[in-house]
Amino acid sequence: MSLPRLQSEMPRPCCPRVDEHTELFWKTLEDGKFLLAVCGDCSTTQFPPRKHCSACYGHNLDWTPASGGGVIYASTRVHAAGGPFAAMAPYTVGIIDLDEGVRILTRLMHDASSLPPGSRVNLAVIEHTDGPLFVAVNAA
Ligand SMILES: [Zn+2]
Repeated sequence: MSLPRLQSEMPRPCCPRVDEHTELFWKTLEDGKFLLAVCGDCSTTQFPPRKHCSACYGHNLDWTPASGGGVIYASTRVHAAGGPFAAMAPYTVGIIDLDEGVRILTRLMHDASSLPPGSRVNLAVIEHTDGPLFVAVNAA
């Protein structure tokens, strides 16, 4: 399953850190998939990508694609942003509990920005002029 896609006329406000532990995540996001890391030792699912398990510190991590669905835990509207985010303001960011049990922070786009906690959202890929980022959109 491929995530919905949005287009942006702007470059990414800040470029993601790409290293040996995150490179596959960012390449796969370009293809419309959001990968989560799963520990082969204790089965903990986690994000963001890292070199060791956040629960047992093991190095036996593998990847699994997220379903893309989740629920808003909390959100806030940013009216005054600094640095590279100033051109985006106002915008909404939310803490999302993915269906796989992982909590992430991401931008809430369009009508998802006014949804209350507990609302269903879907992850989407936003294609900026210089590469992709992930965001959340209304699941309805
Ligand atoms: Zn583990």
